[in-house]
Amino acid sequence: MSSIVALIGRPNVGKSTIFNLLTRSNSSVVADYPGLTRDRKYGKLRDSSIVLIDTGGIGATGNLSQQILEQTEFAIDEADTFLLILDAKEGLQPLDNEISNKLRKANKKIIPVVNKIDSVSDNSEVNEFSILGYDEVLYISAAHNRGIGDLGDILRESDISEDEDIGSKNMTVTIIGRPNVGKSTLLNKLLGKERAVVSSEAGTTRDSIEDEFVYRGKKISIVDTAGMRRKRSIQEFNEKSFVRKSISAIRNSHLAILLIDGSENIVDQDITLISLTLAMGKSVILGINKVDILKAEDKKDVEIQIERKLRFSPYIRRVFISAKEGKGIGKLLKVSLETYKAANQDLDTSEMNSLLRLAIENQPPTMSGRFRPKLKYAHLGGKNPLTIIIHGNNTSLLQASYIKYLENFFRAHLDLSGSPLSIRMKDSDNPFKDKKNLLTERQKKKRRRIIKKRSK
Ligand code: GDP
Repeated sequence: MSSIVALIGRPNVGKSTIFNLLTRSNSSVVADYPGLTRDRKYGKLRDSSIVLIDTGGIGATGNLSQQILEQTEFAIDEADTFLLILDAKEGLQPLDNEISNKLRKANKKIIPVVNKIDSVSDNSEVNEFSILGYDEVLYISAAHNRGIGDLGDILRESDISEDEDIGSKNMTVTIIGRPNVGKSTLLNKLLGKERAVVSSEAGTTRDSIEDEFVYRGKKISIVDTAGMRRKRSIQEFNEKSFVRKSISAIRNSHLAILLIDGSENIVDQDITLISLTLAMGKSVILGINKVDILKAEDKKDVEIQIERKLRFSPYIRRVFISAKEGKGIGKLLKVSLETYKAANQDLDTSEMNSLLRLAIENQPPTMSGRFRPKLKYAHLGGKNPLTIIIHGNNTSLLQASYIKYLENFFRAHLDLSGSPLSIRMKDSDNPFKDKKNLLTERQKKKRRRIIKKRSK
């Protein structure tokens, strides 16, 4: 099983480049604002349900190796598989050894990946990595996109995790957030009862269970993370596997309600959870809890903070609630249902194509070298997340900012509520060309027949 894969290694070994290639990362799910401790990035391996964690960003100050070892600890808690990224150009460093030893102790799968092999001329130069003692080492060059496909295949082959098929289910939500923001209180309020404390069932490894309630005649399922189910005292709470449990709950839901404590503001860990949820293609509703203890100016402050930090996904809807007093919960459910409906709607093909044409007219893609990417037609590629597939030529040359422009353009003209929108490009090997070939095949046959007849 490798549903969560962490990229680990020293700075500058190429982790982010590898991460971006494996996920083809979509800028709209990656948070970026001044002051964000960019210590982790989340993405989904293409054509899989594997979540990738890039433990890349290391702060500029402080003890570097200490920070890397902390990131390694984090990965050990959260991931099932590690990609230990090494650098052929710099060769094996003592810190690589240290990271490797730490990972080994976790008894999980480790795939050593030696990057930048383009910069060594001689095989003997990379032999030193065998000292680490792994049976198999993968050699790649991320900068030249060599070996990345193999790496993706290896991960996909060893993956047994699957997104549960939630397509035909009622709206299913999960409540995520840091400890003490009020998740259990909200859960109990929604279910209309105090939850019995369930002891962990022996022999089961499930991280989450499900319950149902009815809101305005609609059945809503709620995925409950193990942390909520078995409430421990605050002292006992440990944040180990916090992300892992959230991933498991998010995977089985249509959308996540990210709860924050309005009196404590929104913090980087919340943003991390939002990025993670969006990377997994699910919608997020931001619930700002404990409004009962907020003064008007506190509310204003928290709104400003959120505005600033959610610039990477401004469409996320926000609702002030008091889980304790039951305030704002109707609104929270209404907004959740609207978002769910939006993420599962049918988009009209002709409307999508007119919008695509309009978007291109407004701002054509720029030339890349001698080529100009050409976008031809669009259609719905999937729901939850809503996915628009755009066919064209040379689409790999499109700039990320142009894809972002298209996303914004579609969003501005469609009613997407708080649901994410994924834009995927497909280079069509010109279907007309195929048809032409087919025609010529037929024509050739016809011609052959004619020639035969004539020669008779
Ligand atoms: P969890 O760890 O996220 O599940 O948080 P809990 O539901 O256990 O809540 C943590 C603390 O916050 C408890 O003392 C709750 O009574 C309190 N709390 C939860 N919701 C609210 C709220 O809306 N207003 C106020 N004032 N306190 C709340």
